[in-house]
Amino acid sequence: MSKVRDEVLSANETYAAGFGDKANLPMPPARQIAVLTCMDARLDPAQYAGLAEGDAHVIRNAGGRASDDAIRSLVISYKLLGTKEWFVIHHSDCGMQTFTDDVMRELLASSLKTASVDASGWQDSGQGPGSTEGDFIDWLTIADQPKSVVADVKRIRSHPLVPPEIPIYGYIFDVKSGKLEEVPEATAAGKPK
Ligand SMILES: [Zn+2]
Repeated sequence: MSKVRDEVLSANETYAAGFGDKANLPMPPARQIAVLTCMDARLDPAQYAGLAEGDAHVIRNAGGRASDDAIRSLVISYKLLGTKEWFVIHHSDCGMQTFTDDVMRELLASSLKTASVDASGWQDSGQGPGSTEGDFIDWLTIADQPKSVVADVKRIRSHPLVPPEIPIYGYIFDVKSGKLEEVPEATAAGKPK
C-alpha cells in the first residue's frame, strides 16, 4: 500500500473512533447553507467558515465555478434538503488564472503527463500520447477573480431551476490572510427577488 494511503486509513481509524454522536446527524444541513468553492488544497471551508459535520453543503470544483454540475448540486441542496442561503467563494492565487482553454487543450494534446510551469508559462513533457478530447471541454478558467465571482453568481441567480427568494453571496478567500473578502457587485447580483 502507498505511504499516503496508509496515512489516510490510519487517520480515518482515529476519526471513526471518536465519531460518537455524529452517527445521529440528520441529512439536511443544520445551518441551512450551501458553499460553492474551489478545490484548491489551501482552502478548508470547514475552517474558514466555521463549519462542523452536518452544518452545510460544500460543493467544490476547480475554480469554484458555477458549472452545470455545480448548479445540479445547488438545486438538490435547496429543493430536497432545504438550504436557504448560498455562498460562491473563489480565492486569490487560483490555479484557474494560470491557463486558458487553448493552453490546456494544447498540453493535453501533447501528453497526459503532469505539466510543469515556469516563467514563460505551462510546459508539457511531450511524452505522449495525448488526446484532443480536451477540445470539447470548457475548462472554465478565470481571467479576473472578482469578475468570475460576479459571473457565477449571475449565472446561478438567472438559472430557471433556482428559486428567486434564495440569497447568493459572492466572496474571495485571501490565501495570504485567510480572510473572506466580499465582492459587493456579486452579492448585489445575487439578491433575492
Ligand atoms: Zn482555485
